[in-house]
Amino acid sequence: MTNYIFVTGGVVSSLGKGVTAAALGRLLKSRGVTVSIQKLDPYLNVDPGTMSPYQHGEVFVTEDGAETDLDLGHYERFIDENLSRASNVTSGQIYAEVIGRERRGDYLGGTIQVIPHVTNEIKRRIAAVAKASEAQVVIVEVGGTVGDIEGLPFLEAIRQMRKDVGRDKTLYLHVTWMPYVAASGELKTKPTQHSVRELRSIGIQPDVIVCRSDHPVEDSLREKIALFCDVDVEAVVPLVTADTVYAVPLELEQSRLAHYVLSRLGYSQAVATAAEHGDHLAEWRALVARAREDKPMLKIGVVGKYVELEDAYMSVREALLHAAWALGYGVEITWISSEDLEKGRSAHLLETVDGIVVPGGFGYRGIEGKIVAARFARQQKVPYLGLCLGMQVLCIEFARHVFDSDEPNSVEFDPTTRVPVIDLMPDQRAVEELGGTMRLGIYPCNLVAGTRAAAAYQVNTVMERHRHRFEFNNAYRAILEKAGLVFSGLSPDGRLVEIAELRDHPWMLGSQFHPEFKSRPTAPRPLFLGFIRAVEAHVRGRAQLAESGAVKHVRD
Ligand code: GLN
Repeated sequence: MTNYIFVTGGVVSSLGKGVTAAALGRLLKSRGVTVSIQKLDPYLNVDPGTMSPYQHGEVFVTEDGAETDLDLGHYERFIDENLSRASNVTSGQIYAEVIGRERRGDYLGGTIQVIPHVTNEIKRRIAAVAKASEAQVVIVEVGGTVGDIEGLPFLEAIRQMRKDVGRDKTLYLHVTWMPYVAASGELKTKPTQHSVRELRSIGIQPDVIVCRSDHPVEDSLREKIALFCDVDVEAVVPLVTADTVYAVPLELEQSRLAHYVLSRLGYSQAVATAAEHGDHLAEWRALVARAREDKPMLKIGVVGKYVELEDAYMSVREALLHAAWALGYGVEITWISSEDLEKGRSAHLLETVDGIVVPGGFGYRGIEGKIVAARFARQQKVPYLGLCLGMQVLCIEFARHVFDSDEPNSVEFDPTTRVPVIDLMPDQRAVEELGGTMRLGIYPCNLVAGTRAAAAYQVNTVMERHRHRFEFNNAYRAILEKAGLVFSGLSPDGRLVEIAELRDHPWMLGSQFHPEFKSRPTAPRPLFLGFIRAVEAHVRGRAQLAESGAVKHVRD
Protein backbone atom coordinates (compact mmCIF):
# COMPACT_ATOMS: atom_id res chain seq x y z
CA MET A 1 0.00 0.00 0.00
CA THR A 2 1.25 3.45 -0.94
CA ASN A 3 1.73 6.25 1.56
CA TYR A 4 1.04 9.81 0.49
CA ILE A 5 2.68 13.03 1.59
CA PHE A 6 0.70 16.09 0.49
CA VAL A 7 2.64 19.32 0.33
CA THR A 8 0.78 22.64 0.40
CA GLY A 9 1.99 26.22 0.65
CA GLY A 10 0.77 29.15 2.65
CA VAL A 11 1.25 32.90 3.13
CA VAL A 12 3.14 33.67 -0.11
CA SER A 13 4.27 31.92 -3.26
CA SER A 14 7.89 31.29 -4.30
CA LEU A 15 8.73 29.79 -0.93
CA GLY A 16 10.70 26.90 -2.31
CA LYS A 17 7.87 24.45 -1.77
CA GLY A 18 9.10 22.41 -4.74
CA VAL A 19 12.62 22.25 -3.39
CA THR A 20 11.26 21.26 0.04
CA ALA A 21 9.22 18.43 -1.50
CA ALA A 22 12.19 17.32 -3.60
CA ALA A 23 14.57 17.46 -0.63
CA LEU A 24 12.22 15.36 1.49
CA GLY A 25 12.08 12.88 -1.37
CA ARG A 26 15.87 12.69 -1.33
CA LEU A 27 15.90 12.00 2.41
CA LEU A 28 13.38 9.20 2.06
CA LYS A 29 15.15 7.67 -0.91
CA SER A 30 18.47 7.77 0.88
CA ARG A 31 16.90 5.62 3.61
CA GLY A 32 15.98 2.99 1.07
CA VAL A 33 12.32 4.03 0.79
CA THR A 34 11.14 4.15 -2.82
CA VAL A 35 9.67 7.52 -3.77
CA SER A 36 7.79 9.12 -6.59
CA ILE A 37 6.61 12.67 -6.80
CA GLN A 38 3.90 14.66 -8.54
CA LYS A 39 2.99 18.31 -8.99
CA LEU A 40 -0.64 19.43 -9.19
CA ASP A 41 -0.87 22.84 -10.88
CA PRO A 42 -4.11 24.76 -10.43
CA TYR A 43 -3.84 26.93 -13.55
CA LEU A 44 -6.12 26.27 -16.52
CA ASN A 45 -3.44 25.85 -19.18
CA VAL A 46 -3.21 22.21 -20.23
CA ASP A 47 0.56 22.41 -19.80
CA PRO A 48 3.10 25.20 -19.33
CA GLY A 49 4.38 24.68 -22.90
CA THR A 50 2.34 27.63 -24.13
CA MET A 51 3.18 29.98 -21.27
CA SER A 52 5.72 32.77 -21.40
CA PRO A 53 8.81 31.99 -19.36
CA TYR A 54 8.11 35.32 -17.63
CA GLN A 55 4.89 33.80 -16.29
CA HIS A 56 6.21 30.50 -15.36
CA GLY A 57 9.97 30.16 -15.67
CA GLU A 58 11.48 27.30 -17.61
CA VAL A 59 9.43 24.57 -19.23
CA PHE A 60 10.95 21.30 -18.08
CA VAL A 61 10.82 18.32 -20.48
CA THR A 62 10.54 14.72 -19.27
CA GLU A 63 11.88 11.58 -20.96
CA ASP A 64 8.44 10.83 -22.41
CA GLY A 65 8.21 14.32 -23.87
CA ALA A 66 5.86 16.11 -21.49
CA GLU A 67 6.29 19.87 -21.17
CA THR A 68 6.07 20.39 -17.44
CA ASP A 69 6.48 22.70 -14.50
CA LEU A 70 10.04 23.54 -13.53
CA ASP A 71 9.52 21.93 -10.14
CA LEU A 72 9.85 18.59 -11.94
CA GLY A 73 13.42 19.66 -12.64
CA HIS A 74 14.04 20.03 -8.91
CA TYR A 75 12.40 16.67 -8.28
CA GLU A 76 14.56 14.87 -10.83
CA ARG A 77 17.75 16.57 -9.69
CA PHE A 78 17.14 15.81 -6.02
CA ILE A 79 15.60 12.37 -6.21
CA ASP A 80 17.65 11.27 -9.20
CA GLU A 81 14.75 9.47 -10.88
CA ASN A 82 13.26 10.09 -14.31
CA LEU A 83 9.66 11.20 -14.00
CA SER A 84 6.94 10.94 -16.60
CA ARG A 85 4.00 12.88 -17.96
CA ALA A 86 1.89 11.59 -15.07
CA SER A 87 3.94 13.62 -12.60
CA ASN A 88 2.50 16.95 -13.68
CA VAL A 89 -1.24 17.46 -13.59
CA THR A 90 -2.95 20.78 -14.31
CA SER A 91 -6.53 21.97 -13.88
CA GLY A 92 -6.55 22.36 -17.65
CA GLN A 93 -5.92 18.62 -18.11
CA ILE A 94 -8.50 17.69 -15.48
CA TYR A 95 -11.26 19.84 -16.94
CA ALA A 96 -10.43 18.83 -20.52
CA GLU A 97 -10.77 15.17 -19.50
CA VAL A 98 -14.01 15.64 -17.56
CA ILE A 99 -15.63 17.78 -20.24
CA GLY A 100 -14.47 15.36 -22.95
CA ARG A 101 -16.17 12.51 -21.10
CA GLU A 102 -19.31 14.55 -20.64
CA ARG A 103 -19.45 15.19 -24.41
CA ARG A 104 -19.10 11.49 -25.08
CA GLY A 105 -22.04 10.86 -22.79
CA ASP A 106 -20.01 8.86 -20.29
CA TYR A 107 -21.83 10.38 -17.34
CA LEU A 108 -25.17 8.98 -18.47
CA GLY A 109 -27.15 12.16 -18.08
CA GLY A 110 -25.78 13.14 -14.68
CA THR A 111 -24.99 16.71 -13.64
CA ILE A 112 -21.24 17.24 -13.79
CA GLN A 113 -19.85 18.95 -10.72
CA VAL A 114 -16.55 19.89 -9.15
CA ILE A 115 -17.31 17.44 -6.37
CA PRO A 116 -17.30 14.55 -7.18
CA HIS A 117 -16.40 14.57 -10.90
CA VAL A 118 -13.45 16.93 -10.91
CA THR A 119 -12.14 15.73 -7.56
CA ASN A 120 -12.46 12.08 -8.63
CA GLU A 121 -10.43 12.78 -11.74
CA ILE A 122 -7.75 14.44 -9.59
CA LYS A 123 -7.68 11.45 -7.25
CA ARG A 124 -7.50 9.08 -10.22
CA ARG A 125 -4.39 10.90 -11.46
CA ILE A 126 -2.73 10.79 -8.04
CA ALA A 127 -3.43 7.05 -7.78
CA ALA A 128 -2.05 6.58 -11.30
CA VAL A 129 1.38 7.79 -10.20
CA ALA A 130 1.30 5.45 -7.23
CA LYS A 131 0.37 2.55 -9.48
CA ALA A 132 2.86 3.26 -12.27
CA SER A 133 5.78 3.96 -9.98
CA GLU A 134 4.99 1.29 -7.37
CA ALA A 135 6.74 3.65 -4.97
CA GLN A 136 6.27 3.20 -1.24
CA VAL A 137 5.77 6.92 -0.79
CA VAL A 138 4.25 9.35 -3.29
CA ILE A 139 4.86 13.01 -2.57
CA VAL A 140 2.15 15.24 -4.04
CA GLU A 141 2.80 18.98 -4.19
CA VAL A 142 -0.16 21.29 -4.74
CA GLY A 143 0.94 24.39 -6.63
CA GLY A 144 -0.09 27.88 -5.58
CA THR A 145 -0.98 29.11 -2.13
CA VAL A 146 -3.78 28.01 0.18
CA GLY A 147 -6.65 30.42 -0.36
CA ASP A 148 -6.34 30.57 -4.15
CA ILE A 149 -9.71 29.91 -5.78
CA GLU A 150 -8.20 27.64 -8.45
CA GLY A 151 -6.56 25.44 -5.85
CA LEU A 152 -9.76 24.44 -4.05
CA PRO A 153 -10.63 21.31 -6.06
CA PHE A 154 -7.10 19.97 -5.52
CA LEU A 155 -7.22 20.64 -1.78
CA GLU A 156 -10.63 19.00 -1.58
CA ALA A 157 -9.27 15.96 -3.44
CA ILE A 158 -6.30 15.54 -1.13
CA ARG A 159 -8.58 16.05 1.87
CA GLN A 160 -10.76 13.19 0.67
CA MET A 161 -7.76 10.98 0.20
CA ARG A 162 -7.12 10.78 3.92
CA LYS A 163 -10.51 9.09 4.22
CA ASP A 164 -10.02 7.00 1.09
CA VAL A 165 -6.62 5.49 1.87
CA GLY A 166 -6.48 5.86 5.64
CA ARG A 167 -5.29 8.31 8.22
CA ASP A 168 -2.03 6.47 8.87
CA LYS A 169 -1.19 6.40 5.16
CA THR A 170 -1.40 10.13 4.57
CA LEU A 171 0.55 13.07 5.86
CA TYR A 172 -0.07 16.76 5.22
CA LEU A 173 2.95 19.03 5.13
CA HIS A 174 2.36 22.77 4.98
CA VAL A 175 5.15 25.15 3.97
CA THR A 176 4.77 28.71 5.25
CA TRP A 177 6.71 31.93 5.47
CA MET A 178 7.79 33.71 8.66
CA PRO A 179 8.36 37.37 7.91
CA TYR A 180 11.00 39.31 9.79
CA VAL A 181 9.92 42.65 11.17
CA ALA A 182 13.04 44.77 11.27
CA ALA A 183 11.55 47.46 13.54
CA SER A 184 11.11 45.01 16.39
CA GLY A 185 13.80 42.62 15.21
CA GLU A 186 11.59 39.54 15.34
CA LEU A 187 10.10 36.80 13.23
CA LYS A 188 6.32 36.64 13.09
CA THR A 189 4.19 33.52 13.39
CA LYS A 190 0.82 35.13 12.76
CA PRO A 191 0.75 34.61 8.96
CA THR A 192 1.50 30.93 9.58
CA GLN A 193 -1.37 30.69 12.06
CA HIS A 194 -3.73 32.34 9.59
CA SER A 195 -2.67 30.11 6.77
CA VAL A 196 -3.17 26.99 8.87
CA ARG A 197 -6.61 28.28 9.87
CA GLU A 198 -7.43 28.69 6.17
CA LEU A 199 -6.28 25.12 5.53
CA ARG A 200 -8.37 23.82 8.43
CA SER A 201 -11.43 25.64 7.14
CA ILE A 202 -11.33 23.32 4.15
CA GLY A 203 -10.85 20.33 6.38
CA ILE A 204 -7.11 19.75 6.31
CA GLN A 205 -5.17 19.71 9.55
CA PRO A 206 -1.45 19.80 8.75
CA ASP A 207 0.77 17.18 10.38
CA VAL A 208 4.01 19.01 9.68
CA ILE A 209 4.69 22.72 9.23
CA VAL A 210 7.89 23.76 7.48
CA CYS A 211 8.64 27.39 8.35
CA ARG A 212 10.68 29.16 5.72
CA SER A 213 12.45 32.28 6.83
CA ASP A 214 15.50 34.39 6.22
CA HIS A 215 16.49 34.29 9.88
CA PRO A 216 17.08 31.50 12.40
CA VAL A 217 13.89 30.32 14.06
CA GLU A 218 14.10 30.01 17.82
CA ASP A 219 12.60 27.11 19.74
CA SER A 220 10.14 29.38 21.49
CA LEU A 221 8.62 30.22 18.09
CA ARG A 222 8.41 26.56 17.17
CA GLU A 223 6.60 25.90 20.44
CA LYS A 224 4.23 28.75 19.75
CA ILE A 225 3.37 27.43 16.30
CA ALA A 226 2.99 23.92 17.68
CA LEU A 227 0.53 25.20 20.27
CA PHE A 228 -1.53 27.41 17.99
CA CYS A 229 -1.58 25.06 15.04
CA ASP A 230 -1.94 21.84 16.99
CA VAL A 231 1.09 19.96 15.72
CA ASP A 232 3.98 18.28 17.55
CA VAL A 233 6.93 20.55 18.31
CA GLU A 234 9.22 18.19 16.34
CA ALA A 235 6.84 18.68 13.43
CA VAL A 236 7.50 22.41 13.27
CA VAL A 237 10.53 22.42 11.04
CA PRO A 238 12.43 25.64 10.47
CA LEU A 239 14.02 26.08 7.06
CA VAL A 240 16.24 29.10 6.81
CA THR A 241 17.11 30.31 3.31
CA ALA A 242 20.23 28.42 2.28
CA ASP A 243 23.22 29.54 0.21
CA THR A 244 22.57 26.68 -2.22
CA VAL A 245 19.34 24.73 -2.77
CA TYR A 246 21.34 21.52 -2.49
CA ALA A 247 21.87 22.26 1.20
CA VAL A 248 18.13 21.95 1.86
CA PRO A 249 18.10 18.14 2.35
CA LEU A 250 20.90 18.51 4.89
CA GLU A 251 19.04 21.28 6.71
CA LEU A 252 15.89 19.17 6.86
CA GLU A 253 17.91 16.17 8.00
CA GLN A 254 19.25 18.21 10.88
CA SER A 255 15.66 18.88 11.96
CA ARG A 256 14.92 15.14 11.68
CA LEU A 257 12.04 15.78 9.29
CA ALA A 258 12.33 12.42 7.51
CA HIS A 259 12.49 10.64 10.85
CA TYR A 260 9.27 12.27 11.98
CA VAL A 261 7.50 11.71 8.67
CA LEU A 262 8.42 8.02 8.45
CA SER A 263 7.49 7.39 12.07
CA ARG A 264 4.11 8.96 11.46
CA LEU A 265 3.62 6.81 8.39
CA GLY A 266 4.30 3.73 10.46
CA TYR A 267 7.80 2.85 9.28
CA SER A 268 10.01 1.03 11.76
CA GLN A 269 12.42 3.00 13.87
CA ALA A 270 15.20 1.21 12.00
CA VAL A 271 14.15 2.81 8.73
CA ALA A 272 13.30 6.17 10.25
CA THR A 273 16.63 6.48 12.02
CA ALA A 274 18.72 4.83 9.30
CA ALA A 275 20.10 8.23 8.57
CA GLU A 276 21.48 8.84 11.95
CA HIS A 277 23.60 5.69 11.80
CA GLY A 278 24.91 5.18 8.29
CA ASP A 279 26.30 7.86 6.04
CA HIS A 280 23.41 7.48 3.63
CA LEU A 281 23.78 11.12 2.66
CA ALA A 282 27.55 10.94 2.16
CA GLU A 283 27.38 11.61 -1.57
CA TRP A 284 25.06 14.53 -0.96
CA ARG A 285 27.22 15.98 1.81
CA ALA A 286 30.22 15.78 -0.53
CA LEU A 287 28.23 17.62 -3.18
CA VAL A 288 27.32 20.46 -0.81
CA ALA A 289 30.93 20.63 0.38
CA ARG A 290 32.06 20.98 -3.25
CA ALA A 291 29.47 23.69 -3.83
CA ARG A 292 30.62 25.61 -0.79
CA GLU A 293 34.39 25.22 -0.93
CA ASP A 294 36.54 28.11 -2.04
CA LYS A 295 37.35 27.54 -5.69
CA PRO A 296 38.36 29.44 -8.79
CA MET A 297 35.41 30.99 -10.60
CA LEU A 298 34.70 30.67 -14.30
CA LYS A 299 32.75 33.47 -15.89
CA ILE A 300 30.06 32.21 -18.23
CA GLY A 301 27.88 34.49 -20.32
CA VAL A 302 24.37 33.17 -20.93
CA VAL A 303 22.75 34.98 -23.83
CA GLY A 304 18.96 34.86 -23.81
CA LYS A 305 15.72 36.69 -24.21
CA TYR A 306 14.46 36.22 -20.66
CA VAL A 307 17.59 37.02 -18.71
CA GLU A 308 15.74 39.22 -16.20
CA LEU A 309 14.20 36.05 -14.85
CA GLU A 310 16.85 33.48 -14.03
CA ASP A 311 14.17 30.83 -13.51
CA ALA A 312 13.62 30.88 -17.27
CA TYR A 313 16.96 29.07 -17.64
CA MET A 314 16.91 27.09 -14.41
CA SER A 315 18.14 23.73 -15.74
CA VAL A 316 20.89 25.41 -17.78
CA ARG A 317 22.16 27.23 -14.72
CA GLU A 318 22.06 24.07 -12.62
CA ALA A 319 23.77 21.97 -15.30
CA LEU A 320 26.61 24.53 -15.50
CA LEU A 321 27.01 24.40 -11.72
CA HIS A 322 26.97 20.59 -11.60
CA ALA A 323 29.70 20.32 -14.22
CA ALA A 324 31.86 23.09 -12.77
CA TRP A 325 31.65 21.76 -9.22
CA ALA A 326 32.64 18.29 -10.41
CA LEU A 327 35.78 19.81 -11.94
CA GLY A 328 36.63 21.95 -8.92
CA TYR A 329 35.33 25.29 -10.21
CA GLY A 330 32.59 27.70 -9.40
CA VAL A 331 30.52 29.49 -12.01
CA GLU A 332 29.67 33.15 -12.12
CA ILE A 333 26.96 33.69 -14.70
CA THR A 334 26.68 36.97 -16.56
CA TRP A 335 23.14 37.16 -17.96
CA ILE A 336 23.33 38.91 -21.30
CA SER A 337 20.18 40.15 -22.99
CA SER A 338 20.09 39.06 -26.64
CA GLU A 339 17.95 42.08 -27.44
CA ASP A 340 20.58 44.40 -25.98
CA LEU A 341 23.23 42.72 -28.12
CA GLU A 342 20.99 43.13 -31.12
CA LYS A 343 20.68 46.84 -30.47
CA GLY A 344 24.43 47.20 -30.19
CA ARG A 345 24.40 47.42 -26.41
CA SER A 346 26.15 45.02 -24.02
CA ALA A 347 28.71 43.84 -26.58
CA HIS A 348 31.41 44.68 -24.03
CA LEU A 349 29.94 42.02 -21.72
CA LEU A 350 31.01 39.32 -24.18
CA GLU A 351 34.60 40.39 -23.65
CA THR A 352 34.36 39.86 -19.92
CA VAL A 353 33.35 36.19 -19.99
CA ASP A 354 35.37 32.98 -20.33
CA GLY A 355 32.70 31.01 -22.14
CA ILE A 356 29.36 31.63 -23.87
CA VAL A 357 26.12 29.66 -23.68
CA VAL A 358 23.19 30.29 -25.99
CA PRO A 359 20.22 28.38 -24.55
CA GLY A 360 16.93 27.37 -26.16
CA GLY A 361 14.27 29.77 -27.31
CA PHE A 362 11.47 30.47 -29.73
CA GLY A 363 10.60 33.36 -32.01
CA TYR A 364 12.55 36.01 -33.83
CA ARG A 365 13.00 38.52 -31.00
CA GLY A 366 16.64 38.68 -29.93
CA ILE A 367 17.89 36.26 -32.59
CA GLU A 368 20.27 38.70 -34.21
CA GLY A 369 21.79 39.35 -30.77
CA LYS A 370 22.42 35.64 -30.34
CA ILE A 371 24.11 35.64 -33.74
CA VAL A 372 26.36 38.46 -32.51
CA ALA A 373 27.32 36.26 -29.55
CA ALA A 374 28.04 33.25 -31.79
CA ARG A 375 30.12 35.39 -34.13
CA PHE A 376 32.11 36.75 -31.22
CA ALA A 377 32.74 33.21 -29.90
CA ARG A 378 33.83 31.95 -33.34
CA GLN A 379 36.12 34.85 -34.13
CA GLN A 380 37.63 35.24 -30.67
CA LYS A 381 37.89 31.47 -30.18
CA VAL A 382 35.89 31.63 -26.95
CA PRO A 383 34.28 28.31 -25.90
CA TYR A 384 30.63 28.19 -26.95
CA LEU A 385 27.83 25.82 -26.04
CA GLY A 386 24.59 26.10 -28.00
CA LEU A 387 21.49 24.38 -26.67
CA CYS A 388 18.79 23.70 -29.26
CA LEU A 389 18.21 27.22 -30.59
CA GLY A 390 21.87 27.83 -29.68
CA MET A 391 22.89 25.12 -32.15
CA GLN A 392 20.69 26.60 -34.85
CA VAL A 393 22.25 30.01 -34.22
CA LEU A 394 25.73 28.50 -34.47
CA CYS A 395 24.85 27.02 -37.89
CA ILE A 396 23.19 30.21 -39.17
CA GLU A 397 26.14 32.37 -38.11
CA PHE A 398 28.62 29.97 -39.69
CA ALA A 399 26.65 29.87 -42.93
CA ARG A 400 26.52 33.68 -43.01
CA HIS A 401 30.30 33.69 -42.64
CA VAL A 402 30.90 31.01 -45.29
CA PHE A 403 28.50 32.54 -47.83
CA ASP A 404 29.53 36.06 -46.83
CA SER A 405 25.88 37.04 -46.70
CA ASP A 406 23.23 37.96 -44.13
CA GLU A 407 20.70 35.84 -45.95
CA PRO A 408 21.16 32.46 -44.18
CA ASN A 409 18.47 32.04 -41.55
CA SER A 410 15.91 29.71 -40.04
CA VAL A 411 12.47 29.70 -41.63
CA GLU A 412 11.18 30.22 -38.10
CA PHE A 413 12.62 33.73 -38.15
CA ASP A 414 12.44 34.52 -41.86
CA PRO A 415 9.91 32.33 -43.68
CA THR A 416 11.01 33.70 -47.05
CA THR A 417 14.77 33.37 -46.63
CA ARG A 418 16.55 32.13 -49.74
CA VAL A 419 19.12 30.27 -47.62
CA PRO A 420 17.09 28.27 -45.08
CA VAL A 421 19.93 26.62 -43.17
CA ILE A 422 17.38 25.68 -40.51
CA ASP A 423 14.09 24.44 -41.88
CA LEU A 424 11.23 22.04 -41.35
CA MET A 425 11.91 18.53 -42.69
CA PRO A 426 9.93 17.86 -45.90
CA ASP A 427 7.77 15.21 -44.22
CA GLN A 428 7.25 17.59 -41.29
CA ARG A 429 5.64 20.26 -43.41
CA ALA A 430 2.48 18.28 -43.97
CA VAL A 431 2.25 17.54 -40.27
CA GLU A 432 2.78 21.20 -39.53
CA GLU A 433 -0.24 22.10 -41.59
CA LEU A 434 -2.31 19.65 -39.62
CA GLY A 435 -1.18 21.37 -36.46
CA GLY A 436 1.05 18.55 -35.23
CA THR A 437 4.00 20.30 -33.74
CA MET A 438 7.10 19.60 -31.76
CA ARG A 439 9.66 16.85 -31.48
CA LEU A 440 9.53 16.19 -27.75
CA GLY A 441 11.29 13.86 -25.35
CA ILE A 442 14.17 11.44 -25.71
CA TYR A 443 15.59 10.37 -29.03
CA PRO A 444 18.86 8.58 -29.71
CA CYS A 445 21.87 10.35 -31.16
CA ASN A 446 24.84 8.53 -32.67
CA LEU A 447 28.19 10.19 -32.10
CA VAL A 448 30.88 10.46 -34.75
CA ALA A 449 34.26 9.18 -33.61
CA GLY A 450 37.07 11.67 -33.30
CA THR A 451 34.83 14.67 -32.60
CA ARG A 452 34.58 16.83 -29.50
CA ALA A 453 31.09 15.50 -28.90
CA ALA A 454 32.36 11.90 -28.90
CA ALA A 455 35.24 12.90 -26.61
CA ALA A 456 32.77 14.41 -24.16
CA TYR A 457 30.37 11.47 -24.11
CA GLN A 458 32.84 8.60 -24.58
CA VAL A 459 30.09 6.31 -25.90
CA ASN A 460 28.63 5.67 -29.34
CA THR A 461 24.99 6.51 -28.72
CA VAL A 462 23.30 8.83 -26.27
CA MET A 463 19.70 9.52 -25.38
CA GLU A 464 18.86 13.16 -24.78
CA ARG A 465 15.67 15.18 -24.46
CA HIS A 466 14.30 17.34 -27.25
CA ARG A 467 11.86 20.20 -27.59
CA HIS A 468 11.99 21.74 -31.03
CA ARG A 469 10.27 22.02 -34.35
CA PHE A 470 12.98 22.99 -36.80
CA GLU A 471 16.00 21.03 -38.05
CA PHE A 472 19.29 21.59 -39.76
CA ASN A 473 18.60 21.60 -43.51
CA ASN A 474 20.48 18.71 -45.14
CA ALA A 475 20.77 20.64 -48.40
CA TYR A 476 23.56 22.62 -46.73
CA ARG A 477 25.38 19.72 -45.12
CA ALA A 478 28.05 19.06 -47.72
CA ILE A 479 29.00 22.65 -48.37
CA LEU A 480 29.18 23.67 -44.71
CA GLU A 481 31.02 20.46 -43.84
CA LYS A 482 33.64 21.36 -46.41
CA ALA A 483 33.95 24.80 -44.84
CA GLY A 484 34.60 23.36 -41.39
CA LEU A 485 31.29 22.52 -39.72
CA VAL A 486 31.44 19.02 -38.25
CA PHE A 487 28.20 17.09 -37.81
CA SER A 488 29.29 15.11 -34.79
CA GLY A 489 25.92 13.75 -33.70
CA LEU A 490 23.22 12.33 -35.98
CA SER A 491 19.94 10.50 -35.58
CA PRO A 492 20.46 6.74 -36.14
CA ASP A 493 19.04 6.99 -39.68
CA GLY A 494 21.52 9.79 -40.35
CA ARG A 495 18.82 12.23 -41.42
CA LEU A 496 18.73 14.62 -38.50
CA VAL A 497 21.66 16.67 -37.28
CA GLU A 498 21.77 16.36 -33.51
CA ILE A 499 25.16 17.98 -32.82
CA ALA A 500 27.25 20.41 -34.86
CA GLU A 501 30.69 21.70 -33.94
CA LEU A 502 33.38 23.84 -35.55
CA ARG A 503 36.56 22.18 -36.77
CA ASP A 504 38.82 25.22 -36.53
CA HIS A 505 37.90 26.33 -33.06
CA PRO A 506 38.97 25.13 -29.62
CA TRP A 507 35.42 24.23 -28.60
CA MET A 508 32.34 25.57 -30.32
CA LEU A 509 29.51 23.08 -30.24
CA GLY A 510 25.74 23.06 -30.37
CA SER A 511 23.20 20.30 -29.75
CA GLN A 512 19.70 20.15 -31.16
CA PHE A 513 18.65 18.54 -27.87
CA HIS A 514 18.69 19.91 -24.33
CA PRO A 515 21.34 18.09 -22.29
CA GLU A 516 20.56 20.35 -19.32
CA PHE A 517 17.38 18.39 -18.56
CA LYS A 518 19.37 15.26 -17.74
CA SER A 519 22.06 16.88 -15.63
CA ARG A 520 22.03 15.79 -12.01
CA PRO A 521 24.11 17.32 -9.22
CA THR A 522 25.72 13.94 -8.67
CA ALA A 523 25.97 13.14 -12.40
CA PRO A 524 26.87 16.15 -14.55
CA ARG A 525 26.01 15.87 -18.23
CA PRO A 526 28.96 15.18 -20.57
CA LEU A 527 28.46 18.15 -22.92
CA PHE A 528 28.52 20.52 -19.95
CA LEU A 529 31.68 18.84 -18.64
CA GLY A 530 33.23 19.17 -22.10
CA PHE A 531 32.28 22.83 -22.22
CA ILE A 532 33.60 23.61 -18.73
CA ARG A 533 36.89 21.82 -19.54
CA ALA A 534 37.20 23.97 -22.66
CA VAL A 535 36.51 27.10 -20.62
CA GLU A 536 39.14 26.02 -18.12
CA ALA A 537 41.68 25.55 -20.95
CA HIS A 538 40.71 28.90 -22.42
CA VAL A 539 41.27 30.69 -19.12
CA ARG A 540 44.60 28.93 -18.64
CA GLY A 541 45.71 29.77 -22.18
CA ARG A 542 44.83 33.40 -21.70
CA ALA A 543 46.73 33.56 -18.41
CA GLN A 544 49.82 32.07 -20.07
CA LEU A 545 49.55 34.56 -22.88
CA ALA A 546 49.30 37.42 -20.42
CA GLU A 547 52.29 36.06 -18.52
CA SER A 548 54.47 35.76 -21.63
CA GLY A 549 53.35 39.26 -22.62
CA ALA A 550 54.40 40.54 -19.23
CA VAL A 551 57.77 38.81 -19.47
CA LYS A 552 58.28 40.28 -22.91
CA HIS A 553 57.40 43.67 -21.56
CA VAL A 554 60.04 43.38 -18.80
CA ARG A 555 62.67 42.31 -21.35
CA ASP A 556 61.82 45.19 -23.63
N1 GLN B 1 12.73 27.50 -31.93
C1 GLN B 1 13.60 26.42 -32.29
C2 GLN B 1 12.83 25.25 -32.85
O1 GLN B 1 11.65 25.14 -32.68
C3 GLN B 1 14.44 25.99 -31.10
C4 GLN B 1 13.64 25.44 -29.97
C5 GLN B 1 14.39 25.40 -28.69
O2 GLN B 1 15.43 26.03 -28.53
N2 GLN B 1 13.90 24.64 -27.72
O3 GLN B 1 13.38 24.40 -33.49
